[in-house]
Amino acid sequence: MLTQIINPEHVVKFTEWQESCHKFVIVAHTNPDGDAIGSSLALYHYLRYLRKKVCVIVPNPFPDFFKWMPGADFIMAYNRYVHVADKIIAEADVICCLDFNRLDRIDEMGEKVRTSKAKKILIDHHLDPEEFADITISHPEQSSTCELMYRFLCDLGYYYRMNTTVATCIYTGMMTDTGGFTFNSNNPEIFFIVSMLLRKHVDKDLVYRKVNYNFSASRLLLQGQVLSGMEVLPEYHTAILTLTKDQQREYQYSKGDSEGFVNMPLQIKDVIFTCFLREDTEKEMVKVSLRSIGEFPCHIVAAEFNGGGHKNASGGELPGMNAEMASERFKQVLEKYKEQLEECFNQHPK
Ligand code: 5GP
Ligand code: MN
Repeated sequence: MLTQIINPEHVVKFTEWQESCHKFVIVAHTNPDGDAIGSSLALYHYLRYLRKKVCVIVPNPFPDFFKWMPGADFIMAYNRYVHVADKIIAEADVICCLDFNRLDRIDEMGEKVRTSKAKKILIDHHLDPEEFADITISHPEQSSTCELMYRFLCDLGYYYRMNTTVATCIYTGMMTDTGGFTFNSNNPEIFFIVSMLLRKHVDKDLVYRKVNYNFSASRLLLQGQVLSGMEVLPEYHTAILTLTKDQQREYQYSKGDSEGFVNMPLQIKDVIFTCFLREDTEKEMVKVSLRSIGEFPCHIVAAEFNGGGHKNASGGELPGMNAEMASERFKQVLEKYKEQLEECFNQHPK
């Protein structure tokens, strides 16, 4: 059995919206990942089942290895269809905000959502939610927004009707946000939910392959290139990876090709903190991705790079820098955390 974690008043309120509203818009965060896409599509299929008009809009395109997900073809990238998307957002009855905590996490779309007259619901598992929605379902203790979405849909009485499509979308986000149930996933209820999804005939082995064994050859070669440039800082239990624009050009980089790179140095014995720095090809900035094992709080470090996130997975941006400058900056910041890294490592050696 599952613990009731969602406030029943929120469920009642959303049920009322379901009855009185017709036009629903679902939005998820920039650089959408498996959890953002999975939770959006699960809710999309549910609302379509209720015969609602539904549009899923994300700020920018998502990687090819999520394109197989049922309904992925219907997702609109805001930056490709700004005018159409603005109109849909402005005219919506309800906007469902998934897998992000603040409106600035969806770039220019954020203000359009804020000023829309639609009712708003936030369903998310990031810390410190911004108060902009009429219903805020924020549970940072949850492994993924998809886990929360499962609970929400069950609270709405949908489990019996849930089909393989919806179950697959939910499973995908739960799997990707926990690195295939390797971190942030010790709550037994996660596996209860997985078992309930398997009862809906999710092919979890296939989902794993679709997400993880679906790369281009150049992506794997790029991985080799990035790894060969890895810098390990043993006295900080930290490793740094960088990816320059030149390397991206050489290996025909496409969106999402570097997904997961940041986790790789965590395979090194004694490394508990990793940083991946990618030069952006559109904006003059470096995208920072951080991962940690145990108690070391990467979101606190990410805040030094205009970012945030979770304790073990976070990110930010360094405007006006190239990868080399960003690496120097990161090392400066790292100095401040030297003692804490040592403490965290000693508390939880691998
Ligand atoms: P990734 O490293 O996969 O891009 O991001 C990991 C997590 O860090 C995301 O799920 C998100 O919570 C957080 N994150 C990444 N980039 C940013 C950012 O620029 N700002 C904030 N606030 N959070 C970020
Ligand atoms: Mn998530």
